[in-house]
Amino acid sequence: MVLVTFDDYVTRANFHFYDDLFPRALSDVVKNPNGCPATATFFVSGTHTNMTMVKTLADRGHEIASHSHTHGSPGTWSRQDWDREIQGMRQNLAHACQLPAQKVCGMRAPFLELGGDDQFSVLQDRGFLYDSSMFGGSITEDSSAPPLWPFTLHYPPSTSQTVCDQSRCPGRSYPQIWEVPLIRQYALDGRSCAMTDGCPFAGDDVSKDDVKRYLRKNFDRHYNRNRAPFMISLHATWFTNVPQSYQGLQEFLQEVSSRSDVWQVTLTQMLDWVRHPVPLSRVGEIPSWQC
Ligand SMILES: [Zn+2]
Repeated sequence: MVLVTFDDYVTRANFHFYDDLFPRALSDVVKNPNGCPATATFFVSGTHTNMTMVKTLADRGHEIASHSHTHGSPGTWSRQDWDREIQGMRQNLAHACQLPAQKVCGMRAPFLELGGDDQFSVLQDRGFLYDSSMFGGSITEDSSAPPLWPFTLHYPPSTSQTVCDQSRCPGRSYPQIWEVPLIRQYALDGRSCAMTDGCPFAGDDVSKDDVKRYLRKNFDRHYNRNRAPFMISLHATWFTNVPQSYQGLQEFLQEVSSRSDVWQVTLTQMLDWVRHPVPLSRVGEIPSWQC
């Protein structure tokens, strides 16, 4: 399962990227093996976002999730602040997209800065399904540890999982909440990054083939090891900061869509399989994977 995620604001300045990657015309979209459009997850922040454009993305089948209202620095947030940020943004998104509030069921903390029990108790009390703010995986590329699968928070993450060593882990049990961790990725020169758009490329003349080689190499680590979902975690700024990244990504997604055993799905669609797994031959029948 390939999970494409975009963080932050949806604006007139970046919407054309999303519109090109996930066009309206069904004949132009990248398709999954059952013929349904490939889908992505948008972690949306509030203050600069064009909600009409968010609704367009939701109407095309993409998942809309909360990335806080203000995108402030969570280090000083109280539980009440977390509630206002997470739940407030959810309500705004659900209202704008004309979705039931429980359809906005995921969140990612700004700057991946966790809020410990303040954050996770809000997620549980408000009936969220998942958080996707932790990140794990070896700093060095040569680790033998396989990529991590999503997990529940029945038990607080142990330090041996190294998924929240950088900031405030939840300390209590949150049995209803799934964690979909970001897994460190490795640049072509082996340096690591938490998000896909954080890995450096050497030099200024980055080609689309460099970008494809980078994505392919990280995809292969998941595909050839344990098939843990492969997340391509991005901000639209990648497309302006790294020349050719847009074209490289687009061609990579077209490339993997030609495989009969690779599906591009949202985080919620992925969790639907994880919670109720079925054989590959029947995944197209999962209700949320149909169209
Ligand atoms: Zn952000």
